[in-house]
Amino acid sequence: MSLIVMKFGGSSVGTPERMQRVAQRIIERQQEGNDIVVVVSAMGDTTDDLIEQSKLLNSNPSAREMDMLLTVGEQISIALLSMTIEASGGKAKSFTGWQVGMKTDSVHGKAKIVEIQPERLQEALKLGYVAVVAGFQGASEAGEITTLGRGGSDTTAVALAAAINADICEIYTDVDGVYTTDPRVVKNARKLDEISYDEMLELAHLGAAVLHPRAVEYAKHNNVQLVVRSSFTKNEGTSVKEEAIMEQGVVVRGIAFDKNVARITINGVEDVPGVLANVFGALADNGIDVDIIVQSGTQNGKADFAFTLASGDKDKAISVIEGIKDIVPYRETISEDNLVKVSIVGAGMVSNPGVAAKMFATISSLGISINMVSTSEIKCSCVISAEKLNEVVVALHTAYGLDATEQAFVGGPSERR
Ligand code: ASP
Ligand code: MG
Repeated sequence: MSLIVMKFGGSSVGTPERMQRVAQRIIERQQEGNDIVVVVSAMGDTTDDLIEQSKLLNSNPSAREMDMLLTVGEQISIALLSMTIEASGGKAKSFTGWQVGMKTDSVHGKAKIVEIQPERLQEALKLGYVAVVAGFQGASEAGEITTLGRGGSDTTAVALAAAINADICEIYTDVDGVYTTDPRVVKNARKLDEISYDEMLELAHLGAAVLHPRAVEYAKHNNVQLVVRSSFTKNEGTSVKEEAIMEQGVVVRGIAFDKNVARITINGVEDVPGVLANVFGALADNGIDVDIIVQSGTQNGKADFAFTLASGDKDKAISVIEGIKDIVPYRETISEDNLVKVSIVGAGMVSNPGVAAKMFATISSLGISINMVSTSEIKCSCVISAEKLNEVVVALHTAYGLDATEQAFVGGPSERR
C-alpha cells in the first residue's frame, strides 16, 4: 500500500466530463489499495476570468482582496470534485489550504510555505476518505488567506507530499510528460522517461511550462519522487529524480525558450566603481528582475552595457534608469523587445567540452546572429531575434540528437502559459 499525492491542473478538471474522468481515475488508484491525497487547481480559465472580473471594478486592487478572490477558484474545484467522487461511489472530503494547516508567510500573491500541519488530512485518510485539497492557497499566521503565485498548485502538491511523507507525487496534466522541447514547435519532440531535478529546474526557469519551478525546487530539497503524466491517457509519464540514479551519458536533455525577453542597452556610462551596483540596485529596489548582463570594454573612460529582462518590465526599467541619471550619468538608453532566449539544458554538459560551441555553430550556420550568451554548468542560453525562434529550435533539436523517430506527442496544448 502506498500513500500517493495526485495533482490535477485546471484543464484536467475544466469540464464536467473531465471532472468525472478524473474522479474515476482517483477511485481506481484508491482501489489498488493506496491512500490518496488529491490537489486540484481552479477549473479551466477560472483564475484568468476572476482576474478579468476584478479589473472591471478596480484597476489596482489590494493584494489581500485579490487572494480572497482567486482562492475561490480552487474552492469550487475541491467541492465539485469531491461530489463527483461521491457520485461515482467513492468517499471524499474537501479541504481548503488553511484546513490542512498550510501555513505561509504574509506576502499576498506570492506567499511562501512556512509549515504544514496535516493532522486533519491524515485523519480523513485513516477513515478511508480521499482527501481533496485546494491548490495554490494557504493562510498566514495572522489568519489571512494567501496564494502561492500563478501555477502554485504544483507547489502545494509537492509540499504536501513532503509533509505527509508520501511515496510519490503524481502531477497530472494535459500533456503526457516532459518533452525534449515544445512539441508545437518541433514535431519530432520526444517525451522523456526521466529527467533530473536540476535539469527540470533549469527547463522550468528557462520557459518550459509543464512544472512550476518552485515545485521542482521543493521536490529536490525534500527528495520527493515526482512524476508528470497525462490525465487523459494511461501512458507512463516522466519521472523527475536525483541525477545519480539516472541513466548516464545524455549531454543535452532538452531545449527551452522564453519569448518574453527585452533588452536594454545603456551607452556612454562613466566607467567608475559602483556604476553596476547603482543601476542594478535601483532596478532591484523596484522589483525588477534582470537576467543576462553584458558589459563591453571601456573607451575614453566610458563603457556600454546591456541586460535582458521580462518584456513587461521594460518601460518601468527605463524610467528607473532615467530616474538615477544624476548618480549614473550616461549618453543614451536603447531598448528592444523583439527578442527570445533559447536554452539547451543537460547535466552532462559539465563534463563534455564543445557543447556550447556546437550551439553557436548551429545557429550561425543558419545565418542568424547571436545577441547575447549566458552559460552555467548545465545550460547555455542564446538571445536571438524573435522571428528566428522556430528555425533555431528545430535545428538545435536535430543537432543534439533529440529528434524522435516517430511522432510521440499526445494531447492538446499545454494548460500553462
Ligand atoms: N489556479 C492557479 C493559476 O491558474 C493556480 C494553478 O493553476 O496552479 O495560476
Ligand atoms: Mg490554473
